[in-house]
Amino acid sequence: MGEQTQVFQTFKRVVVKVGTSSVNYPNGKPNLFQIECLVRQLVDLYNQGKEVLLVTSGAVGAGAGKLGLKGRPKTIPEKQAAAAVGQGVLMHIYEKIFAEYGVAVGQVLLTREDFSDRRRFLNARNALCTLFRFGVIPVINENDTVAVDEIKLGDNDNLSALVAGLVDAEILFLLSDVEGLYTADPRKDPAARLIEDVYEITPEIEELAGEAGSTMGTGGMTTKLQAARVAMHSGVVTVIAAAEKKDVLRRVIAGERDRTVFWPLENKLENKKQWIAYSSTVHGKIFVDKGAARALSGQGKSLLPSGVTGVEGVFELGNTVSIIGPDGQELARGLASYSSSEIEKIKGAQSKDIARLLGHKYYDEVVHRNNMVMNL
Ligand code: GLU
Repeated sequence: MGEQTQVFQTFKRVVVKVGTSSVNYPNGKPNLFQIECLVRQLVDLYNQGKEVLLVTSGAVGAGAGKLGLKGRPKTIPEKQAAAAVGQGVLMHIYEKIFAEYGVAVGQVLLTREDFSDRRRFLNARNALCTLFRFGVIPVINENDTVAVDEIKLGDNDNLSALVAGLVDAEILFLLSDVEGLYTADPRKDPAARLIEDVYEITPEIEELAGEAGSTMGTGGMTTKLQAARVAMHSGVVTVIAAAEKKDVLRRVIAGERDRTVFWPLENKLENKKQWIAYSSTVHGKIFVDKGAARALSGQGKSLLPSGVTGVEGVFELGNTVSIIGPDGQELARGLASYSSSEIEKIKGAQSKDIARLLGHKYYDEVVHRNNMVMNL
């Protein structure tokens, strides 16, 4: 066993995400054998004293199966209806099998807004931590019945990475029908090799991610890499492994290597900065000149009004904004210390003139360093 993976056994808080193809058969009927294996492994981790959280897909697929639809529903109302029916089907099965092992589960359905609104984000965290305190295993899915496209995260890989950051989990398992990230598509190329350890998501790695594999799920390697990137910056180890492999969680935790591990970066973002970078909604843009771009990127400075050349969008104090350099590229994201209309009036001015220009002054800076994340 590698020294690195020994740390897996010390982890206390574990998020496991399972994809549609591992929960349902292609006809939409639940794969009870697979679900039973998964639940047994989760309860085993729970019995070792770990806090376990399950992110499950499969509601839309199970609902489509129950409603007799062929394939994945196409229109939004059909997806919403399928999710409403299928979520109940899924929970009924989880509830039943977890109960056989004496463990209570709690259904938590989230939408993008539960992450993008800071207060709802903190509320969700409190609710999940309270479930842990009561010894309950939270079973999470996106609230597909109410989440129409513009407020949707859309895939549970990204959802599970945000959840892992939300509860400060140490490890995130993305279980699906693939063993991990390969150097080529193993279905087509016999020379394809499994990449066991990833320390940085480079453009070469991104190129290896193909399209979504199965007909019912929405994810694929692309969304898994997005999820891994978020997790790496949040201090969470991410593992991609095959759901159908016998005792897969136990084996990976014991150090077996037939999986891909994405190792967290050394300088993880603090919780608030993770939220700014990955969860919050961007409400507008602030354009800055060359000097300000240099001060932000190279010198770790705050953004002062003197470096601001323009504003786009309508936002309030406290909203997340994107900071754009003179080349048009996003430099950073941060929380605005002034509204868009106020910044319009103080752009290009010295901080000492803010009070005169606005009739009031909250801060010297337009975006404070502590509320800013450089482009990731
Ligand atoms: N939330 C969707 C469902 O339960 C799954 C999304 C995904 O496949 O990642 O059907």
